[in-house]
Amino acid sequence: MTSNEELLRRRQAAVPRGVATAYPIYADRAENAELWDVEGRRFVDFAGGIAVLNTGHRHPKVMAAVAAQAERFTHTAFQVASYDSYIELAEKLNARAPFKGPAKSIFFTTGAEALENAVKIARVATGRPGIVTFAGAFHGRTLLTMAMTGKVVPYKRPFGPLPGEVFHVPFPAPQNGVSVADSLKALDRLFAADIGADQVAAIIIEPVQGEGGFLPAPVELLQALRALCDRHGILLVADEVQTGFARTGRLFAIEHSGVEPDLMTVAKSIAGGFPLSGVIGKAEIMDRVEPGGLGGTYAGSPLSCAAALAVLSVIEEEGLCARADAIGAQIKTRLEDLSRRNGIRPIAHIRGPGAMIGFDVVTADGLPDREATAAVTQKALAAGLILLSCGTAGNTVRILVPLTVSDAVLAEGLDLLERALTA
Ligand code: PMP
Repeated sequence: MTSNEELLRRRQAAVPRGVATAYPIYADRAENAELWDVEGRRFVDFAGGIAVLNTGHRHPKVMAAVAAQAERFTHTAFQVASYDSYIELAEKLNARAPFKGPAKSIFFTTGAEALENAVKIARVATGRPGIVTFAGAFHGRTLLTMAMTGKVVPYKRPFGPLPGEVFHVPFPAPQNGVSVADSLKALDRLFAADIGADQVAAIIIEPVQGEGGFLPAPVELLQALRALCDRHGILLVADEVQTGFARTGRLFAIEHSGVEPDLMTVAKSIAGGFPLSGVIGKAEIMDRVEPGGLGGTYAGSPLSCAAALAVLSVIEEEGLCARADAIGAQIKTRLEDLSRRNGIRPIAHIRGPGAMIGFDVVTADGLPDREATAAVTQKALAAGLILLSCGTAGNTVRILVPLTVSDAVLAEGLDLLERALTA
């Protein structure tokens, strides 16, 4: 039998340090919300492959759809010979995405690729260069999306020069001392000092900041951004890569606000573990790029499109939006109870819509405690729970349990979380 230790040794010799891994466990197999390592140890998975597995590991319907597609063909390149699953997926997403008028969809492979293409489309549609994103945002690791990401270490510092025409404003969060008015004031200042509003193609925002700390964007901010974009002819782009596909209790998180974006980027849970991303947007904007300007060899892989169609059916058939609300309520109740108990590490700011739940690990004085957060996730792993942290101060614990998790495994995971939080 291979051991975690042996694989760690081989990994260190064969794979560069630049790709970090949270835990020294090596996966052997996984099912729904459980994962077994190569030594046969079982873990409850509250990470869901970083927000990819809203429908769980290897959902039987997703696996069957991919197997059936693999029997027909696995790759043609959509630009060479297109296929039904891509078109059907576009039709379904166009119908379900929160656009009032006609929408169109295009598919890629990774989240970063979707963001890059949203920027390309926005630049062509507006004839402007500027991109505005938020401090703490995460939009990817490619050169452009790295510039759009609002965190220097570890994502940007050694990799410059960064592409120009990308600007950041503060993201409102009470625990960071930033209000909606502060963010809007910063936008005004940006337009006065750095780039005219008439040179900005798009404002890009995560409806709930993911890597930045599971911070929901206040509805007033989204509404104000919509009004500001309308006033200046700027496109509003919702990055739903982490928030999409029922995680927040709606198919897309922006739906909570009633705000209509111009473009949306999607990835991660769209295809239940198969690589797929996309840009969905207002048809007249999506059609502005000339033929040949968008695409990619693997963009919209037939295997991934088949998986995504199955994911959409599963979300509907299993009522995963309602399930997200139910799971989230249960997690929040448990955390709120724990936060009042003695013998538990101090936690604060339990938050998030649906089952996109985050909370902060803090010192006795209420300050961010990065070391204690790392201790919690390590202790969780030792107890058998895969748990991720995030946040610009590294002190947010985020829960991304599959929405298909059974009640029993969810309860077990919450017991393990309690153990990890026990001081
Ligand atoms: N946008 C958001 C909101 C994300 O959370 C991520 C990934 N964490 C990305 C974009 C980039 O996706 P990918 O890693 O697939 O390129």
